[in-house]
Parts: sequence; C-alpha cells; structure tokens
Amino acid sequence: DELLSMLNQAFADEWLAYYQYWLGAKIVKGPMKDAVAAELLLHAGEELAHADMLALRIIQLGGTPPISPEEWLKVTHCGYEAPTDPFVKKILAQNIAGEQCAIDVYQRLMQIVKDADPVTYNIILTILQQEVEHEEDLQALDEDIDLLMMRN
Ligand code: FE
Ligand code: FE
Ligand code: MG
Repeated sequence: DELLSMLNQAFADEWLAYYQYWLGAKIVKGPMKDAVAAELLLHAGEELAHADMLALRIIQLGGTPPISPEEWLKVTHCGYEAPTDPFVKKILAQNIAGEQCAIDVYQRLMQIVKDADPVTYNIILTILQQEVEHEEDLQALDEDIDLLMMRN
C-alpha cells in the first residue's frame, strides 16, 4: 500500500512535469529559445511515457491511478511550478528543480523495491536514468546560454 501510494504520487508528478514542460516550450523567450523549446517538448513526451509506465504498473499491482486531475495537485511530491516568467533561464531553473526532485523520488522508490519487487525496480531504474539525462540536458543548455550572454 505504501508502494502504491508512492507510485501514485510519482504518477501525479509525471503529469505535472509533462504540462510544465509542454507549456514552457510554448512560452519560452530569450537566447537559444528554439533549442530550449525543442528540448522541453522532447522531455514533455518522455514524462508522459513515464506516466504511462507507472499507470501500467499501478494497475498490475491492483491499484488505480489518480482518477481526476484534481488529485494530481493533492498527491504530488514535486509539485507544479507555473512558468509565470517566460525568460529562458527561469524556465530552465524551474525544470532543473523538478528533475532534481524527481531523481530524489525515484532513488527513494528504488530503495523500497530493490529486494522485494524486481519488475517495479526495473521500471523505476529506467525512469531514473531518463530523469538524470533530463537534468544534465537542461544544465548543459543553461551553461550554453551563460556563455552566449557573456560574449554579447
Ligand atoms: Fe519523468
Ligand atoms: Fe524528467
Ligand atoms: Mg533530453
């Protein structure tokens, strides 16, 4: 039951991350915005794929994913940061924080399932690898923007 509630929490996080990335890609402004928007949109799709993997596993374990979007905000661990400032470095910082939170969540989940549930472990490991990649991609873009801004 504790595992199911953690998986539901992660599922809510993934939908909120999906929307935060998807919207960020539409509204982002500033240096390198096209490259950043393309990466944000790619990540959005990958967060949705994570939600899909989690939903399948929640159902296999006899649970039910959050039945309404209202529940996402009630059960989320990483929350939702509205991109009220469209400046590219602000959008990147919000999503980097989101990825760092997701990495923490999945590392904790891995500890819980590591000896007890190899199927869930494998799913969590796959997702965690992508979250680490997401965080690095965003950090790299942020560094490139800093270099660009220094030279102009
Ligand atoms: Fe994700
Ligand atoms: Fe991610
Ligand atoms: Mg990427």
